[in-house]
Amino acid sequence: MSTAAEASSNVDPAELAKFGALAARWWDPHSEFKPLHEINPLRLNWIDKHIGLAGKRVIDIGCGGGILAESMAARGADVTGIDLSEKPLKVAQLHLLESGHRVDYRLISAEEIAQQQPGTFDCVTCMEMLEHVPEPPSTVRAAAALAKPGGWVFFSTLNRNPKSFLLAIVGAEYVLNLLPKGTHEYRRFITPAELAAMARDAGLTVTEFTGMTYNPFSKIYALNNDVSVNYIVACRKPA
Ligand code: SAH
Repeated sequence: MSTAAEASSNVDPAELAKFGALAARWWDPHSEFKPLHEINPLRLNWIDKHIGLAGKRVIDIGCGGGILAESMAARGADVTGIDLSEKPLKVAQLHLLESGHRVDYRLISAEEIAQQQPGTFDCVTCMEMLEHVPEPPSTVRAAAALAKPGGWVFFSTLNRNPKSFLLAIVGAEYVLNLLPKGTHEYRRFITPAELAAMARDAGLTVTEFTGMTYNPFSKIYALNNDVSVNYIVACRKPA
């Protein structure tokens, strides 16, 4: 597939519609987005520890309502947030009025902005988004292209194995009702080995994985070395 064709086709409108329909509740910490609110401090600190966000130029791909994007801006980063779903972006933009932070939100695909602004960002984040995209390797290539030489690229997604099916779909959507039914499709989950291969194919060096686990009894999320369900990977573009 050519890069231009990828830019216009690496999107599933049904996936965007799911997030559009829920957008008004994005910043309600008791809504469908509760898990994103709860994991945010963990991932924010993990990213900040690697890169030192203050003063850095960051792009957040698939930013949605801006939970991560805004929190990175609050740490002093100069943040651009991109998504292809209009309503979440509007919600993100409106929330800036409340928080007083500054984020440049844009309705544009990762592939397209990568063509416009290659090698521009110290840090690229793409969280909980790859499992909603038809061609994750294309998004990974765009993320790599957006990073400056020596820059960092972070991805998070869901692993694919019987345990992640049980916890992320059956548990989260049907038993605990943490997420609306149909939020995730098992076949779109990505193993750490697959994501590492995509990153390497895009010219990135894979630096570190961390798992994110949820304890349904204490209702607490934690970072640890268990990547069997949710995980984040830190990659670096060679200098
Ligand atoms: N990254 C945010 C939001 C995750 S929800 C966070 O972790 O807090 C997934 C987001 O990916 C939604 O906002 C959805 O609109 C977006 N998305 C899905 N497919 C996309 C695509 N092809 N291009 C850009 N954004 C996409």
